[in-house]
Amino acid sequence: MPHQGSYINGAWVTGAGKVQRNLNPADLAEVVAEFPTARSADALAAIAAAEAAWPMWKAVPAPERGRILARAAAIARTRLDEIATLLTREEGKILAEAKGEVIKGINCLDFCGGQGYRLGGKVLPSEAVDTAASTLRQPIGVAGIITPWNFPWSNPCWKIAPALVAGCTVVFKPASATPLTASCLVEILEEAGLPAGVLNMVVGSGAEVGETIVTHPATKVLSFTGSNPVGARLYESGARKLAKVTCEMGGKNALIVMPDADLERAVEGVIGGGFGSSGQRCTATSRLLVHVDVKARLLEMLVAATSALKVGNGLDPTSQMGPVVDQDQLHTDLSYIEIAKHEGLKLIAGGSMEASAGNGYFLRPTIFDGAKATHRLFQEEVFGPVLAVSEFTTYEEAIELANGVVFGLSSALYTQSLVTAQRFIQDIHAGMAHVNEPSIGGEAQLPFGGVGCTGVGDREMGEEGVNFFTQLKTVFINYARSGERSMCR
Ligand code: NAD
Repeated sequence: MPHQGSYINGAWVTGAGKVQRNLNPADLAEVVAEFPTARSADALAAIAAAEAAWPMWKAVPAPERGRILARAAAIARTRLDEIATLLTREEGKILAEAKGEVIKGINCLDFCGGQGYRLGGKVLPSEAVDTAASTLRQPIGVAGIITPWNFPWSNPCWKIAPALVAGCTVVFKPASATPLTASCLVEILEEAGLPAGVLNMVVGSGAEVGETIVTHPATKVLSFTGSNPVGARLYESGARKLAKVTCEMGGKNALIVMPDADLERAVEGVIGGGFGSSGQRCTATSRLLVHVDVKARLLEMLVAATSALKVGNGLDPTSQMGPVVDQDQLHTDLSYIEIAKHEGLKLIAGGSMEASAGNGYFLRPTIFDGAKATHRLFQEEVFGPVLAVSEFTTYEEAIELANGVVFGLSSALYTQSLVTAQRFIQDIHAGMAHVNEPSIGGEAQLPFGGVGCTGVGDREMGEEGVNFFTQLKTVFINYARSGERSMCR
């Protein structure tokens, strides 16, 4: 069992706040975690520890910082099954998805480990004679990192690993619903040799602990993933103290099916993108836009495949979709189902709880047909297994529908036409475009993030994700010999 509580200055500590009890969303009789939460004073202690550790940590050569991450990746690999099982018990996603998530996080630790050898600036020509001009990347300082519950392992990896290799120290607040999976990452980094104070984790409420981290003058770089209202508030607080900020927030991702698409693959893409992780991915397909000519056939196949999905405890290897994360999320999902019915959309699959799955938050994967751009189910992020279907007659109409929301995270197109695919890549208003594959997924070496109301600030992951935690210095060295005239700029 991983530690329950906070980790400050190299020690596991018990917070002074109220006791939090987290249940397994697939089995409400199982208490997964029970621990006293942290208060603002704990967050302040964590920030002080990170500030004190920064001069030491930034002086550690970047390749050595990277080696600690590489060691953490190796340790995590030996604990893969244990972490994935815990993740499933804590968050609900099926074990295969949990393993996939743990591997993605390990890839990120590995990638960022290697970046320790590549951190650096550029050497560029100068206008002046006998002058060497270059840029240097330096860590910003203490990073405040705040993550959601839906990727409790990989999302912290995406943020913490680049911050550490860049030379920042970290104050990390995981979502209160999933602190145990986050604790595994901290334990592993500690075992890999991370010095005390470099990474601190504070488990407490967003309103108190989160706000303390965000508003404190020492956290000069903030990385947030979560909902739009919280992200917007964080962005504002960051701007007030002139911090560098990145926020990755909601999505309402469209998957477009053209008349020449391979329909079997398209159905697989909708099922994987729409109902994988119970639809609780920021990149989940939540809108299906289908050409009128293939709509009847596609929906027939899709409804059959959706109705056959086995919803159950993610630890049961026959389950294909787990529960939703908690009572609040279930309530949100059910209320959107009522809203869609009220707005006149046609329920063609699911729409109710899965009674046979047991004592958990099990909802049937749900599909509504007849969504128009004016409907709330078309516009608003549900963050559950609820899909809205709309039809179109031309490519232009499909793009207008796809781009007709405030979000811009991911997208997918199914077609056999290279021309249509290339046009889609140009036209879609999204940070990520997938052709003939689901709207989901990210890789450690590739930047990840959205446009519009989904994302502000730099991309996560890849070289860009590491650079976010650095600031550039431009350097001029004049090497004219003494006695020679040196040019004034
Ligand atoms: P949330 O915004 O409720 O919480 C996210 C984190 O912010 C949690 O740790 C929470 O405790 C903290 N928080 C809450 N109030 C705070 C405050 N006032 N100050 C500082 N921190 C505060 O989001 P959630 O419900 O955990 O996650 C679901 C949301 O995350 C969805 O909208 C989803 O689309 C989004 N998400 C986006 C991406 C992406 O990359 N774009 C990835 C995953 C999830």
